[in-house]
Amino acid sequence: MSQVVTRFAPSPSGYLHIGGARTALFSWLYARHMKGKFVLRIEDTDLARSTQESVDAIFEALEWLGIDWDEGPFFQSERFHIYKEYLEKLADSGQAYYCTCSVEEVEEMRKKATASGGKPKYDGSCREKGRGKTDSAVIRFKSPLMGTTVLEDVVKGNIVFQNQEMDDFIIQRSDGMPTYNFAVVVDDITMGVNTILRGDDHVMNTPKQILLYKALNSPLPTFGHVPMVLGHDRTRLSKRHGAMSVTAYRDMGYLPQAVLNYLVRLGWSFGDQEFFTIEELITKFNIPNLGRSAGVFNPEKLTALNADHIKAMPSEKLALYLIPFLKQKGYPAEEGNYLTGIITTLNTRSKTLIEMAESASFYYVDQLEYDEKAVKKFLKTDILEPLAMLTEKLANAKDLAQETQETLFKEVLETTGIKFGKIAQPVRVALTGKTASPGIFEMIDILGRDRVISRLNHAIKLISGQQSK
Ligand code: GLU
Repeated sequence: MSQVVTRFAPSPSGYLHIGGARTALFSWLYARHMKGKFVLRIEDTDLARSTQESVDAIFEALEWLGIDWDEGPFFQSERFHIYKEYLEKLADSGQAYYCTCSVEEVEEMRKKATASGGKPKYDGSCREKGRGKTDSAVIRFKSPLMGTTVLEDVVKGNIVFQNQEMDDFIIQRSDGMPTYNFAVVVDDITMGVNTILRGDDHVMNTPKQILLYKALNSPLPTFGHVPMVLGHDRTRLSKRHGAMSVTAYRDMGYLPQAVLNYLVRLGWSFGDQEFFTIEELITKFNIPNLGRSAGVFNPEKLTALNADHIKAMPSEKLALYLIPFLKQKGYPAEEGNYLTGIITTLNTRSKTLIEMAESASFYYVDQLEYDEKAVKKFLKTDILEPLAMLTEKLANAKDLAQETQETLFKEVLETTGIKFGKIAQPVRVALTGKTASPGIFEMIDILGRDRVISRLNHAIKLISGQQSK
């Protein structure tokens, strides 16, 4: 086959949802894997439902996911002249015809067909009448009356459709608009698309599209229809099953790498490997491993993968994703050693970037919020002396490298006769306001001497205040 050309063809009537993103991902990965091209086409012929906000939302989501396109975006609404040309080709060659039957008449024919045990269909009244164009005429495609149309689907296998069951379907509406099936075929032909991976909600359209390819003398593309994503109750994925928009996951603190990794696993597998980097996916993605059974969307699994990606991402890179969340909380976060240091203490304990920004709070605020219970339990008078001793030592130490700290702590423990556990929690509460945090030594190292000393002194004051009460 010549160079692989795939495409993503969303209709802009809402945000980019999980299912759409997965379709885009499969087509994009396949193009990248095959060193082919990936085309983006916006199917905005439904003028009533298409909005600019949706178009922008789709671009924004794709960009965030890192799904880039080589050609386009093409807009169907700017291509009417091309559809017209192809419509005329079919009408001139007698493969399509004008039909002037009214909506009521067609409805009657459909009822009749059903009543006699068949599929509801147009009865071909105008097929041989040689009608000309009128204001209300539609153009219908002359479907073969006999035989079969075979969809050789690379995911589902062969699917055979009886041509008898298809009617002469409309390819141009009375208002001059091409129908979906017609526009898609003309676009895919003229854009050189030769591999179409999409949701299996389009299977029923495909025989019509195959007939159009044949009528237009164009080679058939490779079709692969992937099962739709389901919710936990095995019904079609919808809002009931959790956030559906891709950018909602961005806003909830998920990494695009994790979302992509999760999406690909909803319909594709590689042994039992769960974690993939994008580079790995590009190397490994293939059509034979696309699954025939529906993937079930599981938000907890997505969250677990997000935690894995947070852990695996180099701190400098993770910083760029975390900064907006820190800024949102009003922290003066910027790239640099302080932030990468913070990240190394939090990246194994954060499931989302929001959680991470929350845990990073004590690194940035001037006034710690103390957990009252923790203060009561751990900042007590018996710890005053060891804490003061430690503060003094840390203030005068030549550096605060972890080994130095260890020596200083040991000295305090030896002098006062207390155990490490006895001083560790008070120090933790003094430095963070809380009882759970990263390790003491690494925190001290990152917070730096000034913050550490001032926080320890503040704790000492708190204890002394209690004492004088
Ligand atoms: N615009 C169609 C949709 O959003 C996709 C068309 C196609 O993939 O052929 O469902």
